[in-house]
Amino acid sequence: MTGRMFLQTPGPTNIPDDILSAMHRPAEDFSTPEFIATMTAMFSQLKDLFATTGEVFAYIANGHGAWEASIVNLLSPGDRVLVPETGRFSVVWRDMIKAFGITAEEIPNDWRSAIDPQKVEDALRRDTERKIKAVLIVHVETGTGSVTDLRAIRAAIDSAGHPALLVVDAIASFGCHGLKMDEMGVDCVIAASQKGLMMPIGLSFTAAGPKAMEASEKCTTNREYWSWKSRMALEMYRRFCGTAPMHMVWGLMRTMEKIREEGIDNIVARHARLGEAARRAVGVWAEGGAMEFNTIDPAARSNSITCIRTLGDTDPDAIRTIAREKFNVSLGGGLADLKGMAFRIGHMGEMNEPMLLGALGGLDVTLKHMGVPHGDGALDAVTKYLAETA
Ligand SMILES: *Cc1c(COP(=O)(O)O)cnc(C)c1O
Repeated sequence: MTGRMFLQTPGPTNIPDDILSAMHRPAEDFSTPEFIATMTAMFSQLKDLFATTGEVFAYIANGHGAWEASIVNLLSPGDRVLVPETGRFSVVWRDMIKAFGITAEEIPNDWRSAIDPQKVEDALRRDTERKIKAVLIVHVETGTGSVTDLRAIRAAIDSAGHPALLVVDAIASFGCHGLKMDEMGVDCVIAASQKGLMMPIGLSFTAAGPKAMEASEKCTTNREYWSWKSRMALEMYRRFCGTAPMHMVWGLMRTMEKIREEGIDNIVARHARLGEAARRAVGVWAEGGAMEFNTIDPAARSNSITCIRTLGDTDPDAIRTIAREKFNVSLGGGLADLKGMAFRIGHMGEMNEPMLLGALGGLDVTLKHMGVPHGDGALDAVTKYLAETA
């Protein structure tokens, strides 16, 4: 293979060279004043990134680790939570919760739409005894491409007058869709390094506001490694419950610097524009009758990932294989109930116009090469849109 593979999977995502370079250095003594100052700055900058005055905890773990950290710090055995179904990730999160002896009440969904805030409100109103401790929302459901309106969910909880915590899995939305935690009234946000944050896999976060911190005080679940309380000790060594992942710390410092340089609002706008560009291409291809958007409501299609269902005997996995092996474009497959029925284009993190065009071009060539029926002029529609909105 010559040239680059275009990585368009919805995690991991492309790691910018300057983030890789920031990590390419020898290990150091972690007890020096310099490294302790870096760690202090990192935790302070993380609060800015989550737009919270609360606490941010970082773990040497993928997103599943941060899921578990939020469960063991917020919930006790016998508790009840509401987990509106969105797709693969809400289901796996729900199952993890059940393993801790917590009852998860689901709001069923067809995997083709965002969460309906009215249904959340209704479920909370039915809970007259106020047994539900938390509402767990997957913001962007990476398995289906749908995005839920967090402000509408906050409003639903408020209009039910329910005290439940709002806990958001923002793993696929953080750094892509706007998420200002305090302002939006989110009590706990879960994020991970390898999606919108453009980093290697292996760092994840929970940001906890005052209500979440209070809940963690009352929570009776045994915990030590994940414990927010023990991680808040003054000694920096406790912050990661052991040796800090120095290279990830250096990478994250560069990531946060890059985010400040571009500006979070500009980053959100860039994702909206590139996401729309990808959707324009899919819209044209879909005219051929061999594929359609998985998310039915155009307003609920996320700017992080687009999920495309194939129709008839069009095989999405064959499209993925040819795209990757012949044309150097790596796409995501259909997950769980969508296995063998869909493929996914990630467009989050380190992404610009020619990168997206390269990937969409590779996919366009793939469809032509395979003889998959598709509308003509997808790339033209994309370049026109990008030119008009520049
Ligand atoms: C990727 C992802 C996860 C899982 O993260 P891992 O790092 O793979 O453990 C959970 N939720 C969402 C929404 C995701 O996109």
